[in-house]
Parts: sequence; structure tokens; C-alpha cells
Amino acid sequence: MGTDMNTEAVALPLLPLRGLVIFPYMVLHFDVAREKSIAALEEAMGSDQQIFLVSQKDVSVDMPEPDELYRVGTISRIKQVLKLPGDTIRVLVEGEARARIEEFTQTEPFFAVEVVEQPDIVPSDGLQTKALMRSVMDSFEEYVKLSNKVTHETFASVSSVEDPGQISDIIASNVLLRLEDKQGVLECSDVAKRLEKVLVILGNEIEILQIERAINQRVRKQMDKSQREYYLREQIKAIQKELGEKETIVQEADELKKRLDETPVSQEAREKAEKEIARMSKMSMGSPEISVVRSYVEWILDLPWEKHTEDEIDLARVQKTLDEDHYGLTKVKDRVIEYLAVCKLTGGMRGNILCFVGPPGVGKTSVASSIAKALGRSFVRMSLGGVRDEAEIRGHRRTYIGAIPGRIISSVKQAKSMNPVFLLDEIDKMSSDFRGDPASAMLEVLDPEQNATFRDHYLDIAFDLSQVMFITTANTADTIPRPLLDRMEVIQLSSYTEDEKLGIALKHLLPKQLAKHGQKPSNLVIEAQAMRNIISHYTMEPGVRMLERRIADICRKAAREMAEHGRRRIRVRPGSLHRYLGAERYRRDTASERDDVGVVTGLAWTPSGGQTLVVEATPMRGDGKLELTGHLGDVMKESARAGLSYIRSKAEELGIDPAFYTNTDLHVHIPEGAIPKDGPSAGITMATAIISALSKRPVRRTVAMTGEITLRGRVLPIGGLKEKALAAHRAGIKKVIIPAENQKDLEEIPENVRKDIRFLLASDLDDVLETALI
Ligand code: ADP
Repeated sequence: MGTDMNTEAVALPLLPLRGLVIFPYMVLHFDVAREKSIAALEEAMGSDQQIFLVSQKDVSVDMPEPDELYRVGTISRIKQVLKLPGDTIRVLVEGEARARIEEFTQTEPFFAVEVVEQPDIVPSDGLQTKALMRSVMDSFEEYVKLSNKVTHETFASVSSVEDPGQISDIIASNVLLRLEDKQGVLECSDVAKRLEKVLVILGNEIEILQIERAINQRVRKQMDKSQREYYLREQIKAIQKELGEKETIVQEADELKKRLDETPVSQEAREKAEKEIARMSKMSMGSPEISVVRSYVEWILDLPWEKHTEDEIDLARVQKTLDEDHYGLTKVKDRVIEYLAVCKLTGGMRGNILCFVGPPGVGKTSVASSIAKALGRSFVRMSLGGVRDEAEIRGHRRTYIGAIPGRIISSVKQAKSMNPVFLLDEIDKMSSDFRGDPASAMLEVLDPEQNATFRDHYLDIAFDLSQVMFITTANTADTIPRPLLDRMEVIQLSSYTEDEKLGIALKHLLPKQLAKHGQKPSNLVIEAQAMRNIISHYTMEPGVRMLERRIADICRKAAREMAEHGRRRIRVRPGSLHRYLGAERYRRDTASERDDVGVVTGLAWTPSGGQTLVVEATPMRGDGKLELTGHLGDVMKESARAGLSYIRSKAEELGIDPAFYTNTDLHVHIPEGAIPKDGPSAGITMATAIISALSKRPVRRTVAMTGEITLRGRVLPIGGLKEKALAAHRAGIKKVIIPAENQKDLEEIPENVRKDIRFLLASDLDDVLETALI
């Protein structure tokens, strides 16, 4: 179906296309910016809107010459022109017919050409064309499948076209081809050839796409493969880790089991531990339970099951050890020996429990550890001071996070023996609150009926404490819970006198400290008088703790002096004490400096030893009120009132204005207010202070007193006389008034104290006043 119309040359303005080829029947828009092109466009717009579009051979050329343009292009119709910002014009064109340039008729201001249409040459063999067309369509379909650049819609629209030339043009324009290929298709007027060309190009493209795809797939496969391998490897690692760790858990469980088999624990403990170990081996790594189980089983294993120290009570050896370690304390040592003798006879420690009661630093701990040493037992010590929680003694149940056994079991573990000497310090300082009563737990620990099967909350296994020798200490027996006290054999240790302290210091403390500081006894000598001065001017205590510290101070300073000055021997004399210890801290005569009105020295007993106590009374104008200050307890206040009533009833005899209680207020103050004071034994002291204050008679400063007073002025006996006497002695008091009924207690008071102090017996307040007032 040939056409010979328009074979005539047509004159048209020419617009060079850059990188584009336009086919007949194609609609296309592009932007025009080149001056020459715009001029061509304007020319076309001015006539019949026909323009000849042809590609330039090299896209990079800005101003192509005629021979840089292809010969074959497309006669197109301008459908729309749009001015864009700047000098650019967007045009929409539709291709109409292939044409070949015959001649350039003009090159400026735009190209004008004469073109001749190149109509399609349609083959006469319809079948062959059809077959070609089918092949082209098949290839195109395949191409569409392989390439994602052509949409299915385009494919569908191509399928609806029947003209083979048009089909090849549409395919050529849609398939991503090189410019030359497109131009090649454009130049081909023979439809059969054109189809073939398209077929070949499609074939090439398909091949390229297939290779591309294969490469892609290979690459992806490689990636997938390495990813998969990575993933698998990770999994294997996780499995191996799990297996390995599982193995370590199992191994650990096995080791625990082995240890358990080798340890002679009780049947109950064995069963519990075995159960836990079995549970453990089923656990997975990282379970927090593992360490809970581990430490539980280890606690069981670490207890001193069936481990004993050779236990023979050799009384002579005990006596010897106690004597070697301690100066004096004869009575205490005797009591200890008696106690052990009973134990020996009854064949065990099942009797009462020793309780050493006394002020701090008098050797309670040290006697207990000597006993352990003499019996060849291990020694553990646990302070009960401030323990208010039962769990501290018995532990927390294991359901508590971070639970551990109580301190009894911990100490037994530390003792590494079933029969240690176990010192329970400060049993008088336990207190109970909402967390349970530690005293009742202690009772179980100390009760020979119960302690063979002591059950710690954490372990929850009976453990035998019956072979433990418990010794307790306390500053006072008064605050030991009664049921506990009933189980105890109290041995009282009292304050030391100055002479005793001197003996202890020279025989024990000094040698001990010298050894500790690596010095030979011959290198450092502290003269006895110097030691006495340390005791009286550098310490003020019932025991010898501070004294021991002062001696340690001297040892340290002396060692330094020896090193610095190359001295080999040092002898500490009274006069050189200040070099080692600084200024004196206490003066002997702490009793008042003068004979004062309204000021009386009393004596008090406290858990940490005896104490002197100054009572001051001051009368003021008022209406008979009595004010009491200085942290006094109720009993003490009542005792002050009793004294005051007595004074009112006897005012005249005492030389006091009987109307004093209508015009005078009294203030009684006991300084050192931070220390709580209570008890009736300051009765006569307060009464004497008031009488002195009201009658203006001074009190002898060297006198101290202690005694309870009744409403009728009788003086009643008091406790703690020995401690009070020692305190008076320390304070340099010369006379002490005591209740007549305490006479029997005087023999407790050490000889040298009795030598320095005169004890005056009083049965009523008159006796007191006679001695005390001037
Ligand atoms: P407490 O337990 O009563 O508070 P310590 O037993 O701790 O007192 O004694 C304090 C120091 O004094 C210890 O070094 C102890 O050895 C020593 N000590 C106490 N009394 C004597 C004594 N009679 N003989 C030898 N050293 C003693």
C-alpha cells in the first residue's frame, strides 16, 4: 500500500533535537531554549504550525552545523506552546511523517530546510509481515516482563495497534535504546526491514536484560547466601553457647554434689542440698536462681559439720592461762574455774551460761578469749549491741531477695568448729521492735534444750549449737531480758583501782604494746610514777582501754624519736610525759575548788562505772516552786521532792526560814545534762544542796555522798558502792558519806581506796549534815 502523495519537497523551519527522536504518531513535549530553535518555533507558529524535527548527532553540541544533524527527521505539528520562567519554551508536538532533508535553504536566524516525505514501504508478503509482527510482539512482551521500564499499559496500547510500521515506531520509542538505534529505526522506511531491526534490537535488549537479571540474581544469591550463612552461624553459636553453658552449670552442679558427698553434713542438710543441686542442673544459664542455689549449698558445705577441737577441760591449765593473761581479777578467775569444774563434772557445757558484767575495758572480752585459749577452742565474738531485728540473729528466709544466714550461723562458720567459745557481747544492749524480738531468738540459741536443733531462717536446717560454749558480756545486768538472765551465771567485774591499773599497765599493757610496735622491753621504759600520772592525768575511766591507747601513743612516738634521733633507749619519766601525750587532760581534784554554798558532790552508778555528780541548788524569790533540770528521771525527781518535804517539816531546826516555801523558788540542777540520770541514791545529796542553799552554810568540798532519803529524813542503803567509791577515789575525794546499812559492802572496796578515803556512815540526814556542812 504505497503512497506517492507528498513526495514533493516541502519547506519547513528546522528544530534540532538533542538526545531525542520523534516518530510519526508520537506525542512528545520538550523544552526549547536555544535562540535558533526559538526562532524556528516562532516561524512555524507564524505559518501552519508545521516544523521539521531532526536529531543532532552529538548531544553536547550547542550550535550544530547542518552536517551535524541527521538527514532523516519527522515532520511534526506544534500542538501547544508554553512559556516557562526564563527564556525557555515548552512545546508539545505530534509527529506526522518521516521526511528527509533535501536541502538547507537557510541557516540564520533559524534553519530552514526543504524536506521530502519518506512514506512507509509496506511489503507485499502479508504473511511474512504478520509472522514478523508476532515475533516482535512476543519479544516485546518478554522485554516488558524483563524490564520494569515499560508499563503494562504501554504494552496493552501497543497490542491494540495493527499497523506494523506504527508498531515498530511505538516499540522503538518506548524501548530504552541508544539514540543511534532509534534514528536507525526512523530512517527505515521499509516496514519489513523496520520490523526486523526492531526485532534484532529487542533481541539484544532482552539478552542484555537477561544477563543483567542473571547477574543480579547471582549477586543477590551471593548476598543471600552469605546472609544465610551468617544467620546460621549465629544460631550455631547461640546453640553452642547454650550447650556449653548448660555444661558448665551441670559441671558446677556435679562439683557441688561431689563436695556434698565428701562433707559429713546432717541427713536433713544433705537432702535439702541434693534437692537444690538437682534443681540447679535444670536451670538455664543466666537464671538468677543459680547463684541463689549455689550460695545456699555453699553455706551448708562451709559449716563446720562434725569438726571439733580437742576438748579437755584442764583446770590447771585454765588457771595458768588466766593468770598469765590477767593481772588481779582473782575472784573472777575463781568463778570461772568453779564454773568449768562443774562443766567437767557434768560432762558438758549444758549448765548455765557465763555472763561477765562490768564497765567497759575491765577485761571481760579478754578473759573470755583466755578461756578459749586455755581450752584449745576457737574463739568467735559477736556484738549484740543495737541488734533489734530477730533476722540479724536467725537470718532471713530464702524467699527474701539477697537473704543470708543470721549472725549466729555466720559466726559458727567463721569459728570452723562445732565447739568454739562464742562471745556474745553487749547482751544488755539488744532492743526489740516491730521486726521481732531478738531476745527470744537469743533464748533459743542459749537454751540447751533447744540449741541442739537451732534453725536459721535462711538455711532452714537444724544445726547443733549444743557444744558451743557461750559467754556473754554486759555493762549492766539490769537491762538483760529476764528470761535470758535466768539462764546466766553472772560474774561481776568492777572498775580497777589506780594500783590495779598500774599493775595491769606494767605487767600486761606495756609489754603487749611494745611487742605490737616491734620494740624490746629494754628499749622503752615507762617509770612507775610516770605510769601513775598517765592513769590519773591522761585517763578517766573505770577500765583500762584508754590507758592502753595512751601507752600505744607513747610506743609510737618513742619509735619515731628513736628513728629520727638515733636514740636506742628511751625512759619515760613523769616530767617528760607531756612530750608524748601533750597537756594533762584530767586533774585529780575535780571536786569543787572551794567550799561552796548550795553545791554538793554526789556519787552515781552508771553502766560504764561510777561517777561523781555535782548537785547545785539555788534559791530565788518566788512562791515555793521546785525546778529540777539536768535530764533527771522520775525517781530522782520524786526523791528531790521527798527531801524538800522533809526540809519544810524541819525548817526551824535546820536554821531555815520556815516561810521559805511561800516566798522562795528553788532550782536544783545537775550539770552534764546530756547524761540521763535516775535512781534514788542522790536523795541525800539533793537535800543537802537545798539546805546549804537556804541556810547559806557552805559544803565541804572534799566530801562526797550517796544515799536515799525518806520523808522523815532516814538514809536508806544504795547499790554499786564499790564503783562509786572508786569514782570518788579517782576524783580525789577524801570523805564519803554512805548509808549506815551499806557498812557490810565496805569490804568489797579495795584496800588502797579504803586507805585514802574515810567512809562515814549516816543513818539519818542529821548525820549527813554534820559531816558535810561547815
Ligand atoms: P571489756 O571487754 O571489758 O570491755 P577488754 O577485755 O576489751 O574489756 O579489755 C580492754 C583491754 O584491757 C584489753 O587489751 C585487755 O587485755 C586489757 N585488760 C583488761 N583487764 C586486764 C587485766 N586484769 N589484766 C590484763 N589486761 C587487762
